[in-house]
Amino acid sequence: MGDPGSPAAGPTQGGDLAADIDRAGEILARAQYVVVLTGAGVSKESGIPTFRGDGGLWTVNGEPPMNGFQLFLEDTAGWWRQRLDRRRADEADPASFARAVDEARPNPAHAALAELEHLGVVRHLITQNVDDLHRRAGQREITEIHGNRHWMRCLDCGARWPASEFPVDEGRLPPRCAQPGCEGVVKDDTVMFGEPIPAEALSRCDAESRRADCFLVVGTSAVVMPAAGFPLLAWQRGAPLVEVNPEPTPLTGYAEVSCRGAAGDVLPELAAAVRARRAAGA
Ligand code: NAD
Repeated sequence: MGDPGSPAAGPTQGGDLAADIDRAGEILARAQYVVVLTGAGVSKESGIPTFRGDGGLWTVNGEPPMNGFQLFLEDTAGWWRQRLDRRRADEADPASFARAVDEARPNPAHAALAELEHLGVVRHLITQNVDDLHRRAGQREITEIHGNRHWMRCLDCGARWPASEFPVDEGRLPPRCAQPGCEGVVKDDTVMFGEPIPAEALSRCDAESRRADCFLVVGTSAVVMPAAGFPLLAWQRGAPLVEVNPEPTPLTGYAEVSCRGAAGDVLPELAAAVRARRAAGA
């Protein structure tokens, strides 16, 4: 994507949250094809820490190396041995990120987004999260652009399996694809740093963003590409952006309205506002 250009008009800058939610509800209720981008912030109230932002894992501990996939390719068997050791350690550590994801339940933000889909307002949801919570809340039209932590994927043919149905034999690492005639190396479905995003997911996100007549961005720091580019693609084609985030982001200046609050508080109110406007025929 090229330079998106400058924002035409700034958003309401979070001065009056109730008024901002009302305005956001008006924009969403008028739209025919709302596409959503979510990030780690939408799952924070489910007990899963974010990476960036206030209290995020990286804000506190610093960023990890960005060449994870290259290290994986250099020694797939060694990577898997470490992976299995780490998994055992994580399972024993109540404070681990893995335990937080495994024990998390959808929160009111996930439920509100599923309701907006049910109302026919949200037509597609792109998530950077790997936690499966949107699906578990009842959302149906989802692209998990960074994969799903509960699945495994073959790097050669792209076949996927629930991790629970793909036992890893520690005597034969790396695990190999179960598809007849493939034998490709299998890894977690989660997209690692430096790993290409599967082409099918990318082209679906691109197509949905081009179709959007409104884009809702929730709980992402909007600094990871290509995900952060999808709202701007829609914006360039005339779709208003609505943002929900307690902190400003690089997308804030492009947003028609930025609701400065926690997703679990704002989204249920936003869904109620849309429901009321739709019921009133507004
Ligand atoms: P991020 O960690 O970079 O940023 C989190 C954003 O959420 C910040 O802008 C923060 O202000 C906002 N936020 C914090 N609390 C919030 C709340 N209650 N409601 C709404 N917003 C809130 O997250 P990112 O932009 O998604 O990028 C991080 C990458 O790490 C993603 O690619 C994702 O794959 C991965 N990740 C996933 C999970 C998960 O699956 N739940 C969790 C952490 C990181």
